[in-house]
Amino acid sequence: MVGSGLAGLSLARELADLRTDGVVVLEAGPDRGHAHKELLTRDESLRLWHTEDPDFHRNWTSDLPPHYLHSSGLRKRLGGRSLYWHGVCLPIEEQVLRSGAWPTALAAELLGELPSRESLYDQVAKRLEDWAGAPVSHCRGTRERWLLEHLRTLGYPVDPTPQASRSERVPEGENRQVPFTPVTHWNGPLPEPLPYPVLPDCLVTRMQAGSGGLVEVTVERPDGSSAVLLAEQVVLAAGTFENTRLVGRLLAETHGRDFWEFGNLTDHVNQGFLAVVPRESMPYPPEAGRAFCVMPMLDVCNSYVFFDLMESPRPDAALVGVWTMGEQVSTESRVRVERVSPQEQWELKVQPVISPADDRTVERQANQLAEIVERVFRIERTAYTLRKEDFREGRPLYLQQLEAALEHDPASAGGAVFPYVYPLGSVDHEAGTLALGGDAVDEHGSVRVMPQVLVLGPAVFPRQGAANPSLTTLALAKWYARRLRQR
Ligand SMILES: Cc1cc2nc3c(=O)[nH]c(=O)nc-3n(C[C@H](O)[C@H](O)[C@H](O)COP(=O)(O)OP(=O)(O)OC[C@H]3O[C@@H](n4cnc5c(N)ncnc54)[C@H](O)[C@@H]3O)c2cc1C
Repeated sequence: MVGSGLAGLSLARELADLRTDGVVVLEAGPDRGHAHKELLTRDESLRLWHTEDPDFHRNWTSDLPPHYLHSSGLRKRLGGRSLYWHGVCLPIEEQVLRSGAWPTALAAELLGELPSRESLYDQVAKRLEDWAGAPVSHCRGTRERWLLEHLRTLGYPVDPTPQASRSERVPEGENRQVPFTPVTHWNGPLPEPLPYPVLPDCLVTRMQAGSGGLVEVTVERPDGSSAVLLAEQVVLAAGTFENTRLVGRLLAETHGRDFWEFGNLTDHVNQGFLAVVPRESMPYPPEAGRAFCVMPMLDVCNSYVFFDLMESPRPDAALVGVWTMGEQVSTESRVRVERVSPQEQWELKVQPVISPADDRTVERQANQLAEIVERVFRIERTAYTLRKEDFREGRPLYLQQLEAALEHDPASAGGAVFPYVYPLGSVDHEAGTLALGGDAVDEHGSVRVMPQVLVLGPAVFPRQGAANPSLTTLALAKWYARRLRQR
C-alpha cells in the first residue's frame, strides 16, 4: 500500500478484517502522532489547517493561481489528511452514479441494488455508527435542534450534516465532535489481531515491471538512501496528485516518453459567507455544542448548502457560516507529469480550466446565498457581493474574512456578511484524473499497463457530483478489499 491516509489505512484495515496477510503500508512522511486536529485547541487547529503545518506539502505548480495553490496540498505524515478532515459524509448523488460515468456494477453496489448485499454506503455507515455510538446523521444537541427548526420554519429543508464523528473531550475542557480517522481505527483492537506494518519516511518514487509478474517499487528515505521492494500487488493510495504522478511516470516510461497528460481533473465549486448578527435575532439555546446543518441539492443550483452556527467571541453576537458546494461541471482541467533532467525528478503541473458552465454554477450559488442573507439574516441581499469574476480570481479568501467577521461588532454597526470563495483545490476534493474505466485505469481500479497496480481514492472517481468524497473513498476501500482478497 502506498500512502497511509484515509484511503490507504482504511483499505489496510479492511484487508486485515478479511484475514489477508502480507500487507505493508509505505508512508512518505513521518509518524508525528495520531491525534486528529480537532483534539487540539481551536486556535492550534485553525493554524494547523490554514497556516502553520510542518507537514503541509505541495509538490506541484498551477497555471492558474490561486487555484490548486492556495491551501491545496498534502499533509505528509502518517494518517495524511484523515487527521485534518471534517468528517462530512455524503454519498455521491444517485443521478450521478446512474449517469453512465461510473462502472455499472460498482454503481449498483454503491446504490444497494444487489439482492443479497447491503449497499456499500450502508455498510460503511454502519461501521462508522458502531465506532461513534450513533448514526452519522443524528441531531447533535439542543443548539442543532434549534437551528434545524429555525431554518425549517423559514422554508429550508435542512437536516443534521451527516458526519463521521463522535463527541470527545478536548484540551479546552469541553466536548467536541472529533472526526473518525483510520489511524485510531488501525490502533484500536482488531477482531483477531493480524498486524500489518506501517512504515513512515518511505517515499515511493517509481514502479517498474519485475520478474515473475512482481512489481519493483522504488522507495527513497529522508537520509538519501533508497531501496527496491518487490510486491505482488501495489495499491496507490497517495492522494490524487501523487497517484497521478506515479502512474504518469509509469505510463511515460512504459511508452518511452518524457511526459504524460491526464484530463478530467475536477474539484468542487465552493463559496459562502460569515454572518455576524445581534444575538437576539438568533435566540439559540445557551448550551455549548455544534450546530451544523445541510440542505439537500435543489435544482436551482445543484449545490448543497451548509449552515454552521459557530462560537462567537462576543456574547451579544451570533456568528454563522453558510456555504455552498457544487459539482464542477467542466472536466477540461488537466495534469501534466514531466521528467526533469538531469535530476530525474517527475514534476507535476496542474492546468485548471474554469468553464462558462462553472460560471453559471457560481452565479446560481451566489443568487441562492443572497436570498439566504435576506431571509435568514434580514440583511439586504446586495450585501452578498460575490460574482463569477471573484471565483475566477479566487478571492476574497476565508481566513481574511473570518478575521474581519470576528472584529465586527453588530451591536454598534448592525448585522453584516463577509463573503468568501474557496479557490479550486483548496477544499482538498481534487479528483478524477485516473477515472475507473478511463484510459489509464480499468473499471476495477487496475492500471491498464500494469494490472498488479491498483489506484484508490478520489483520483478514480469518474464523476464526483457535489458530495464530499470520503464516504465514497471508504466504500471503495471495502469493494477493493473484497476483490483483492479474491485474488
Ligand atoms: C481541512 C480538511 C477538511 C476536509 N474535510 C472533508 C470532509 O468533511 N469530508 C470529506 O469527504 N473530505 C474532506 N476532506 C478531504 C479528505 O481529507 C481527502 O479527500 C482524503 O483525505 C483523501 O484521502 P487519500 O487517502 O486519497 O489522501 P490522503 O489522506 O492525503 O493520504 C495520502 C497519504 O499518502 C502519502 N503519500 C503521498 N505520496 C506518497 C508517496 N509517493 N509515497 C508514499 N506515501 C505517499 C501522504 O503523505 C499521505 O499520508 C478534507 C480535507 C482537509 C485538508
